[in-house]
Formats: sequence, structure tokens, C-alpha cells
Amino acid sequence: MPKGFYNVPVAKNEPILTYAPGTPEREELQNMLSTLRSQEVELPMIIGGKEVHTDRKIRMYPPHDIKHTLGYYNQGDAGHVEMAIDAALAAKADWAALQWQHRASVFLKAADLLSGTYRAKINAATMLGQSKNAYQAEIDAACELADFFRFGVKAMSDIYKMQPGSSPGVWNYNEFRPLEGFVFALTPFNFTSIAGNLPVAPALMGNTVVWKPSKTAVYSAGVIMEVLREAGLPDGVINQVFVSGPVAAGAVLSHPQFAGIHFTGSTEVFQSIWKTIGDNIYKYRSYPRIVGETGGKDFIFADNTADTQALAIAMVRGAFEYQGQKCSAASRVYVPKSIWGDVRKKLGDELATVKMGPPEDFTNFINAVIDEAAFDKLVGFIEKAKQDKDADVIFGGEYDKSVGYFIEPTVILAKKPDYITMEEELFGPVLTVYAYEDDELDKTLEILDNTSIYALTGAVFSQNRYAIEKITKRLEHAAGNFYINDKPTGAVVNQQPFGGARGSGTNDKAGTVFNFLRWASIRTIKETFMPPKQYTYPNFQDD
Ligand code: NAD
Repeated sequence: MPKGFYNVPVAKNEPILTYAPGTPEREELQNMLSTLRSQEVELPMIIGGKEVHTDRKIRMYPPHDIKHTLGYYNQGDAGHVEMAIDAALAAKADWAALQWQHRASVFLKAADLLSGTYRAKINAATMLGQSKNAYQAEIDAACELADFFRFGVKAMSDIYKMQPGSSPGVWNYNEFRPLEGFVFALTPFNFTSIAGNLPVAPALMGNTVVWKPSKTAVYSAGVIMEVLREAGLPDGVINQVFVSGPVAAGAVLSHPQFAGIHFTGSTEVFQSIWKTIGDNIYKYRSYPRIVGETGGKDFIFADNTADTQALAIAMVRGAFEYQGQKCSAASRVYVPKSIWGDVRKKLGDELATVKMGPPEDFTNFINAVIDEAAFDKLVGFIEKAKQDKDADVIFGGEYDKSVGYFIEPTVILAKKPDYITMEEELFGPVLTVYAYEDDELDKTLEILDNTSIYALTGAVFSQNRYAIEKITKRLEHAAGNFYINDKPTGAVVNQQPFGGARGSGTNDKAGTVFNFLRWASIRTIKETFMPPKQYTYPNFQDD
């Protein structure tokens, strides 16, 4: 047991480097990009600390340069998932018994590696593998992941301090036990930080984990594993398998020792997982914890006092940074007709200056979308909008997949508020605007609130304090993260705890005590110093 009440180092958000011309970080990142481009890696699965190779090698390539090969990963099957589960269960007792400050130290060291010697590598891997520009990679892969680890350690120690009161003669205390069994981390392609946080949060609380990264983010997931191993993560605590989602889910969700899932991805996949867990509920030793952050149809609502330049910039950044492939990306905007002409002009002026191309050219704001399936789906919506009488494509609308999966930032003007691209999550650089009659603000808020199944992020733009208050209140359940005069993206760990409700997930707020509590099962212990020696109470005595 620890011999002291240790204070963890004060967590601070990792400062974001600029990568401006002439800075050392720019040069270091450019060198790392060249190095990674000049070699082909072979990524094994890591199971029980061992590197596992198979005879199925899957090519990894940049979405913006599909003929270039970054390397190969070793594709596994259900047998490898079983091996990973066994390795997690075998590592459990030692890891759970390790004093918490030693668990913390592993991840604090990993954070320092991410913000230090591995910064260029994790950023370059994210830029090449997931087609992110330097700034987007920096705020995600290096900074946010280091923040998750550092604030995770703080959350863990804050939880350990949550103790009950004790009356005279009694001492009560809580033990935050890891869950019995193993935890499954199933991660998306779009944020390296989320991919790293989902297995690490349960591990910090003493759990052992089977981690299946997205097939389109294996390249950076391999670097995360490298960092964790260099930081001293013991074998078997996090086991990384490269298998298809259904294969992993098939083995994991039917296992009696399955203790919980930490998921981020689409609503459809999350709902299918939840259903399978329900169907298998009699098989499990405990009720599995289900934590999932999923899709969004994130909005900006402006009234006629909005600052039109600030609104146009929020639309460009909020909708098109990382090609709109953020769960929080603005994808529907409601603007009153009286200011729409002005907003449209400013938006068009800004978009005319936007450059698209590979992230290795640092001047490109827009890079490629993640894969061919996403490209084809998005093109389908754009082509449909070009034909539909209920929509006009007013900016962008061109695309090309000959070199990489490039789609211009595209703005659709919807003539009715329930046009399909106002409702469905597209997950790409496509923004739909609906211009409403100024005297129909209340009706439009009602429509906004009932248009989609999601409630992840949203923003209001207004300079009228009464309107800001009214709209914020009216949209209380429409978003788990709500912004006033700001774009709805870019949540920072410990500043805007992130997560949405309704169809968007369980809203457990990644990186906070609320999330970390899900990875512990509390045992409350009561000790009585002078136990009663007779069963009667005073009222039973005669007068
Ligand atoms: P996805 O749902 O396609 O994949 C997520 C993970 O689930 C991947 O590892 C994938 O291989 C796996 N998977 C896919 N099909 C599966 C199945 N049938 N059974 C089991 N596993 C399966 O999501 P994605 O394309 O990687 O990510 C984009 C989605 O994630 C978007 O919907 C986005 O809104 C959401 N997202 C949400 C948040 C949030 O915090 N709310 C953050 C990032 C991304």
C-alpha cells in the first residue's frame, strides 16, 4: 500500500506549437515526414507484450497519396482476439495490485514522451496516415493525448479522494476497485488522441484492456503503442489487435469476463454493440459498463444581431477543419434572411482563399478525406444536391480521387429545413445552410431541436444578451457541448469536458472524473470499533 497521501504533479494543458516558418518544430516535423515517407514499416499486433505477425499483410497509405506505401500491418483473426483477452486477464492481478502512483507514473512519462521526443513522430504519423495538416495533428496527436494522460492521472487521484463521512465509533471508506474481467477499447479513425485515451483511461484505474484501433488509423496507433511501451507499460495491460470490428466484437462481447466497453465511433455501430451486450447479458459475470461517444449533426444558429465576419470564420473553421471529419464539426447552419447575403459573401471570400492538397505542404488548409468509401458517400450527397430542386450547391462541389480522396469544401443551401443534408451526419467537408425568415426564429429553433437524432455540439451567434440567454435555454438538450459566439469544435481537455446526449452517446465526458468513475467498481468498507454486545435498543427497556 502507498505510504503517504501523494499529490500528483499539477496538470496543465500542453502548449500548442505554431509550426510557423522558421520555427524549430516546423523543421523537425518536416524532417520526420521525409523520414517516415522514405521507409516502409511493418506493424505487428502487440499481445501480452509480444509482437505478433501473421501472413496477412495489409498496406497502409496516405489518403492524400494513395499510391504511396507507408508500410503494412499484420491482420489478425478471432484467435488473436482470444489471445489478447487471455493476455489481459493474465496481466490483471499484478496490474490491479500495483500501487496507484506507479500506474500514474507510466502515463505521466508517456505524456512527456508525446510532448517531447515523440512529438514530431506522433504528429507526422497522424498527418500521413489520417491526412491531417500540421496544426490539426498538433492539437490532436501531441497535445490532446498528452492532456488526456496528465488530466487522467489527476482524475484518478481526485476519485481516490472521494470518501464518505464517518460517525463516532465508525470509520467508512471507499475502495475504487478496477472492474472484474477485462475492458474493450474500440476506437475511431479521426482522432489519435481518442484512440490513445480509450484504452488508457480504464488502464489507469487498474483495468487491463483489449484495444482494437480503426483500420484507417493503424499507422498512428502503432506509434501510440510504441510510446506506451517505452514509458514502461507492463506486458498485457493494453493488448493491441488488428482485426475487423465485427470479428473483435464477436469474440469480446460473448466472453463471460467482458467488463466494459470504451467506444467512440458511429451511432449505428454503438447501437449494434449495445444490442449484442443486451442479448448476451446472461453470459456475463458482471453488468458491463457501456461508455460510448458517437455521431453528431452539429449546428450553428445565428440571429440577426450576429457578427457576420465572426460567423463566416466559425463556419469555415467549424465545418472544414480536418475536412469536416470531427464529430463536433458544424454541418448545419441556420441564418436569418436579413443577414444571409452578407454572411454568404464573407463565407465565399474566405473559401476562395482556402488551399487543398497534401498535409506535407504546410500551406494546405484542406487535405483528403479518410478513404474511398467516405469519398464515394460524400460525392453521392453532393451530386444529389446538384440535382435536387430543394437544394443548391453554392460553393465547392468538385472532387477528385485520382491521387488522393480530395473533396472541395462544399456549401449547400437548403430550401427546406429538413433537407437530407440538414439531418444526416455526412462526416466530411459538406456544410448545409438554411436561411430562415427573421420573424420565424422560435419556429426555427423548434425545427433545429427536432431535426436530427443527435445532440453533440452546437453554437449560437448573437450580440443580443437576451437572445443568447433565450436560445441557450431553448436548446438545452440539443447539445452536450454548447458554444456562444464560437465554433462548435476544438474542445480542450479540462476546459470543455466533451460528450453529447440523445443519439450522440452516453455523455460521460472524456478525460474527467465522470468518465474515470465508469472504470471503477466501488467497495465501501465500514469498520465499527466497539461492536454492540446485545441486540436490543434503549426503547425496549421498561419505564
Ligand atoms: P466507426 O463506427 O465506423 O468505427 C469505430 C470503430 O468501430 C472502428 O474501430 C471500427 O473498426 C469499429 N467497427 C465498425 N463496424 C463495427 C461493427 N459492426 N462491430 C464492431 N466494431 C465495428 O466510426 P469511424 O468512422 O471510425 O469514426 C467516425 C464516427 O465517430 C463518426 O460518427 C463520428 O461522429 C464519431 N466520433 C464521435 C466522437 C465523440 O466524441 N462523440 C469523436 C470522434 C468520432
